Amino acid sequence: MVYFIGAGPGDPELITVKGKRLLDEADIIIYAGSLVNPTLLKDARDGCEIYNSAEMTLEEVIEVMKNGEQQGKKIVRLHTGDPSLYGAIREQMDILIEKGISFENIPGVSSFLAAAAALKVEYTLPGVSQTVILTRMEGRTAVPENESIESLASHRATMAIFLSVGMMDELVLKLKKGYGAETPAAVVYKASWKDQKIVRGTLSDIAEKVRQEGIKKTAMILVGKFLGDEYELSKLYDKSFTHEFRRGSI
Ligand code: SAH
Repeated sequence: MVYFIGAGPGDPELITVKGKRLLDEADIIIYAGSLVNPTLLKDARDGCEIYNSAEMTLEEVIEVMKNGEQQGKKIVRLHTGDPSLYGAIREQMDILIEKGISFENIPGVSSFLAAAAALKVEYTLPGVSQTVILTRMEGRTAVPENESIESLASHRATMAIFLSVGMMDELVLKLKKGYGAETPAAVVYKASWKDQKIVRGTLSDIAEKVRQEGIKKTAMILVGKFLGDEYELSKLYDKSFTHEFRRGSI
């Protein structure tokens, strides 16, 4: 059996209880070495085989899984954040299906959620935005044309941008076309890690501030008015608003 597990954003306490249990029981662990916190591996069983997938090809990863499965071993494939976001798990799962190897997926805390916690923000503020767009800018990996940053920005929704902090100047130019230059923006470097950094600004100065901090990778870019001070109060706790669990008092 193979378990695809979300390791969380960095802080080793931010893996799920289920993920941690399976990790500690594993006979084989293949972890995404570029971003997974190695501290998570400290309680691995004696004799557990540990592989860093940053140094492996897809074929090599599958080979380790296949051999382990043949020996009846419990295999953990540990991905950063949540595996369903930019995890390249689909290609692994499809090969496992083809080979008749069973697998299960355990979700994780994505870095865009750890970034919200670091900033102490709510992405879905009433009257501001009720939509969160998770995306990346086109770089070496292409993005479908109808998902260009300019077109997504035209919605002025809350946006969390992965894998793009190395292209801040170009990104900000595109964002400004939809949001305008004065829209607040923030960058969270290594959210939930000990060396986490937060940079706040607007689309007009965020790229320069990020450069001054020397941030080039492992950062989440957040854009939208949710970072500002204006919003409406939530209906959920409004005393004139009746819902399933509480009757209105007026
Ligand atoms: N599956 C992961 C994303 C993998 S793609 C998740 O759910 O978070 C890698 C990108 O995620 C990085 O380029 C960066 O944009 C973001 N990222 C991963 N960990 C991060 C962290 N601790 N803080 C900020 N951004 C992070």
